[in-house]
Amino acid sequence: HEKAKFEDRLPAARRFAQENSINEFFPGDGSRYGIITQGGTYSVVLRALRRLGMADAFGNTEVPILCLNLVYPLIPEEIETFITHKDQILVVEEGNPNFIESQIAEIAQRGKIECVIHGKDLLPMAGEYVSNVVREGVASFLTEVLPDGQQSVAGLAEAAIENEKVVAQSYIVEPMPPRPPSFCTGCPERPIMAALKLLMKERGKFHISMDIGCNLFGSLPPFNVGNTVMGYGLSLASSGAVGPNLDQPNVAIMGDGGFWHNGLTTGVINARWNEYDSVLIILDNGYAAATGQHLLPSSGITPKGLSSLVTIENALRGVGVKWIKYVDSYSLQDAKNVIADALDARDQGLRVVISNNECMLARQRRERPAKAEALNTGKTVIQEIFGVDEEVCTGDHSCMRLNGCPSLTLKESSDPFKETPVAHVNDGCVACGHCGEVAHAAQLCPSFYKAEAIRNPGVLRTIFSKINRSLLTAVGA
Ligand code: SF4
Ligand code: SF4
Repeated sequence: HEKAKFEDRLPAARRFAQENSINEFFPGDGSRYGIITQGGTYSVVLRALRRLGMADAFGNTEVPILCLNLVYPLIPEEIETFITHKDQILVVEEGNPNFIESQIAEIAQRGKIECVIHGKDLLPMAGEYVSNVVREGVASFLTEVLPDGQQSVAGLAEAAIENEKVVAQSYIVEPMPPRPPSFCTGCPERPIMAALKLLMKERGKFHISMDIGCNLFGSLPPFNVGNTVMGYGLSLASSGAVGPNLDQPNVAIMGDGGFWHNGLTTGVINARWNEYDSVLIILDNGYAAATGQHLLPSSGITPKGLSSLVTIENALRGVGVKWIKYVDSYSLQDAKNVIADALDARDQGLRVVISNNECMLARQRRERPAKAEALNTGKTVIQEIFGVDEEVCTGDHSCMRLNGCPSLTLKESSDPFKETPVAHVNDGCVACGHCGEVAHAAQLCPSFYKAEAIRNPGVLRTIFSKINRSLLTAVGA
């Protein structure tokens, strides 16, 4: 197999990539310098070039770029073509060690091509290659290769950005509060974290092994319910090392993506085999949501559009899991009760709680265009919205400690006697209902209300609305 890999399969992969132009070559103005980058960082490089005045908002640039959408195997002929007749190139490669940069240097050396290969000498060896980080590296490279150096367009732009940074920092007199990343507006995973937080309030803290994916936001404020994360699909497997030492069941959360990636084999089968006292909460939102809603075996549809009957429950039953319960995560009290049952059934081996509400981001991407089309064709569209009654809200913000929805925010109170800002639901709310559930389950306060905004109401609704308003006016409401 190893021989076939190097003699047949890798050359076949290279051939396929070349014939199908998997890697993209942007010649720019044919300068004697250029940038080679991975597909994933290509748009970050373009953003950097844009800020340095070397690209427009549509990604057009004079800087020659080779975008490697295939990083293994590299195609030496393509690299040679790109670097021949170039004096210097910059390799923008996220992660370490610098595998791509080293291979490109080797290709240049073997091909006796006189081109200086830059990479980690101008960019950080480790850490995320976010826009500012890449911009600084690209700016250093460009000021080195452009004939007028610091006085070039890129050099001057970089100096201006650095100046602006200093000015902006001078306005900030105190440290800014941290803004941890969080679930999207209306995410179905948020209420599960709220349920766990409420359970911990009642029973004391317990350890939860988290997984890679959106669920991991539960480890951050305002929930702080996750303790460890080991890798994609590994939450249940890793929880087995913790639970027995803490006199608690092994508790793990996993998304459907993690489940299919390897959670079924490393976690579920292991827990069954060893008869672990385990609780697994599967957040089945229908996709590998964190990476952009890629389809999964349990999405109900194949990448070719055929319907698929593979389900998480069938896979669990297939390996002998008997304790499986579903929850509607938006019913907070229900979700809390089912998870409590799972925690308490300690003599029943692996207990699995499945929350199967669709990723809200995916749902909105589907529903919004449909609603817009209905509106355009004059159909009635009913939009539910949540709100906070400003007069009732005391401004203690306890609702936010169990929510963290980006649409539940703050605003200045119009009441001069209220010293703190009041809670406020902004226009981004998708009326998932979690606000109301939190207020109810945690017995917080009655300030939340739900309303319906009706567009294109039709004749009957308009008449009833007029009658209603007249009656309300008559009774002085
Ligand atoms: S109801 Fe509350 S939690 Fe749900 S989307 Fe609206 S503001 Fe966010
Ligand atoms: S992508 Fe989907 S699952 Fe992930 S946080 Fe957003 S709504 Fe939730």
